[in-house]
Amino acid sequence: MGFPDAWTEYALEWEEKIGAFIEFAPQRAEPAARVSPDAPLAGLPFAVKDNIAVEGLSLSCGSKLLENLRSPYTATAVERLRAAGAAVVGKTNMDEFGMGSSTDLSALKKTNNPWDRSRVAGGSSGGSAAAVAAGIVPFALGSDTGGSVRQPAAFCGVVGLKPTWGALSRFGLVAYSSSLETIGVLADGVERCRAVFNCIKGQDPMDQTSGDAPAPQEPPVQAGAEKVVGVLSPDAVAGAIAGEFSNGGGEMAEAARAAALQPAVQRGFQAAQEKLSALGFRLVPVEIPALKYGGAAYYPIATAEASANLARFDGIRYGARPDWAENPDELVDKARTEGFGPEVKLRILLGTFVLRSGFQDRFYLRAQKIRASIGANFEKYLGSAAKPGACQAILLPVFPTLAFAHGGAGLSAFAQKAADLYTCCANLAGLPALAFPAAVEEGLPVGVQLLGRAFGEDALFDIASSFERAHPFPHPPSWKQFWT
Ligand code: GLN
Repeated sequence: MGFPDAWTEYALEWEEKIGAFIEFAPQRAEPAARVSPDAPLAGLPFAVKDNIAVEGLSLSCGSKLLENLRSPYTATAVERLRAAGAAVVGKTNMDEFGMGSSTDLSALKKTNNPWDRSRVAGGSSGGSAAAVAAGIVPFALGSDTGGSVRQPAAFCGVVGLKPTWGALSRFGLVAYSSSLETIGVLADGVERCRAVFNCIKGQDPMDQTSGDAPAPQEPPVQAGAEKVVGVLSPDAVAGAIAGEFSNGGGEMAEAARAAALQPAVQRGFQAAQEKLSALGFRLVPVEIPALKYGGAAYYPIATAEASANLARFDGIRYGARPDWAENPDELVDKARTEGFGPEVKLRILLGTFVLRSGFQDRFYLRAQKIRASIGANFEKYLGSAAKPGACQAILLPVFPTLAFAHGGAGLSAFAQKAADLYTCCANLAGLPALAFPAAVEEGLPVGVQLLGRAFGEDALFDIASSFERAHPFPHPPSWKQFWT
């Protein structure tokens, strides 16, 4: 296929500044599938997070342990995009094994936010978000276990979709927390995101948990009918957390503070409501009482599953093997001690702790009950594919802060986890959520997200698309448009 030289130059210039890629070869464009030039993705370059397999390319997961791994096969989502005429141009940086909210937890390199290089791009799909925001690629694949597509999308001012759990194949995605995660899409516009999702969605024989959307049993919403969007009050959520955990000591007070929106994000969230209202959507308040426990439920479940999923990285089947060990146990020990970073170790320990016999009822099973309550709270407003509820979507903030500064001074590791509650609730409930830029505050984008009913991605695209038509999305300084 071959991409224009002007693009290669532009892409390499940006990459030098932002470090979005672990492996990047814009000059070596792969041959595209022969498809009609009108096909929506024909001739477009795209980037793939480095925990999604592309045969022959890196599959490091941002870890030293897998730094030299070349993938022996290709993920179904990537196969489908290639069959539609798009071409992989690189593998993007990420927090190690998807664990983090900044991409600073990559063991391999640093990624900067294209709007302000002293700040993080968000995470864990920070490389994919930064590459799209800079205009290097029009779209990229990421993965979202608790917000890893939507939070970096919000930090970088691009569109980020976390699809319904099971709406597309996870074949070729290196597992972190299987019951929460999906491959997601980062894109430079809502309709691009829809086109990519339509291309990759649907049942895949390689993943028994993937399926096609059920045929709608109710007639579609009548054209001209009023569209209702529920709006969550972040103040109410932060207040509930403060009330619930006020006796819990310093860290619990910090968790409550971390859930409250920064004033700039608050203004962006307000602006989103005003803009939607002006577009004719009827906004109604919604209450999700179980949300105050969202982060507290997410971390036991995610780490429990991670502790099992990451057991395969033992230096024998996968992972860098130590030069020498006295016996197999020592070999595994050394491989994991040397290969995993501190955050990954912390989470494996936490996961094995919550799964210990005697503790399962106290942590893991309780978390599963909260998970079910969060789903029920959303269903009250959204209904299901078979029986739609009163709201077409629920508007939520993505993350309580703007893109923060690199390093510990930006936002503490604990606060980063406590702040995940607005994103991880969609994963706990298995529902689709679409993040998009709603405003620019203090020179940085503010994202909001629409959460929908299972397999209801199209309703989210429709709402966000009318928003985008009225309020075209902003771009970072020195951005140029290459891909239409
Ligand atoms: N910040 C969350 C975590 O660290 C989200 C991760 C993700 O979605 N992969 O687990």
